[in-house]
Amino acid sequence: MEIPQWLPAEKQAAICFTIDDIHPGKSSDAYEAGGDLEKGALGHIQWLLERHPQLRATFFVTADWRELAPHVTRPLLAQIPILRDSVYLTKVRPLGEMRLSRHPEFVAYLKSLPRTDVSLHGLHHIRKGKQIPMEFLGKDRAECDVMLSEMISIFREAGLPFSPGMCPPAWAYNDDLGSAMLAQGLQFVAPTRDIRTPIASGAVTAMSGVQGVSLIHPEWLYPESLQGGQLLHFSSNFQATSPIERAFEIIENNGLVAIKAHIIKNTYGHIMLDGMDDLYRNYLDLVFTELDRRYGNRLWWTSMAEITACVNERRTSELPVCV
Ligand SMILES: [Zn+2]
Repeated sequence: MEIPQWLPAEKQAAICFTIDDIHPGKSSDAYEAGGDLEKGALGHIQWLLERHPQLRATFFVTADWRELAPHVTRPLLAQIPILRDSVYLTKVRPLGEMRLSRHPEFVAYLKSLPRTDVSLHGLHHIRKGKQIPMEFLGKDRAECDVMLSEMISIFREAGLPFSPGMCPPAWAYNDDLGSAMLAQGLQFVAPTRDIRTPIASGAVTAMSGVQGVSLIHPEWLYPESLQGGQLLHFSSNFQATSPIERAFEIIENNGLVAIKAHIIKNTYGHIMLDGMDDLYRNYLDLVFTELDRRYGNRLWWTSMAEITACVNERRTSELPVCV
């Protein structure tokens, strides 16, 4: 269900920048995922924030990261039916090692960055069976309730404030997760990525995550009566491999350019195309500079949390547009 006029009156289009998989892993661990603070991959984000004072960033952070490799590293076990679905088929970190509350310097650094908000990205970012990062795949409402409660309690224990939304790991989303999110008071979800479907105002998603929702506009996932609330859905539609023309097209169609990055570039040889490195940082620097030059104040540099707050405010106050 699309939202008419979700943009402020004077704005032509919006820009969001979100980064997944952030957790306290250091380069002295298996791989770096933010734990080296400004000396690591988060330093690239800090650099972009300093160069682009209009830019905002959202960090999707995992409460207690346990995944070591996103692919199967125990191939013999993976061949045994039934058993393979009840064990981890990859290397796993011990429970609690990356629990946010055990890494106060990391938490303090996240809180110190300007124009940055933190949101949820799973409890452990791992699942038993073959689809390793798809933490919520096949989970029912009761299981989602338990996982979300634990995730949120870890953020609170760590003293890390978070915006009321989540990007479920590896685009694994279902209605049980959605209703569990609503029950926890969460308000937005970013479970979808489509960097292939051509841009048009009415284009719908057909790649990873939810299918058939708007590619370039936020929209409500559920009619209010059905789920006891509404969850605002966002599709990521731009990444390192996207040509800048895709951003122009989204803007010309009054949409949201939702740019995705992953904080980890190389996980045991698994290369993320949108992993944050010098090359992607420099490309984004160019993209942001050019968008600002072309469109100036007509762009709303915002976050999913801010759009959600604005749309909800408008709903209750019956304002004609976001302000
Ligand atoms: Zn992830």
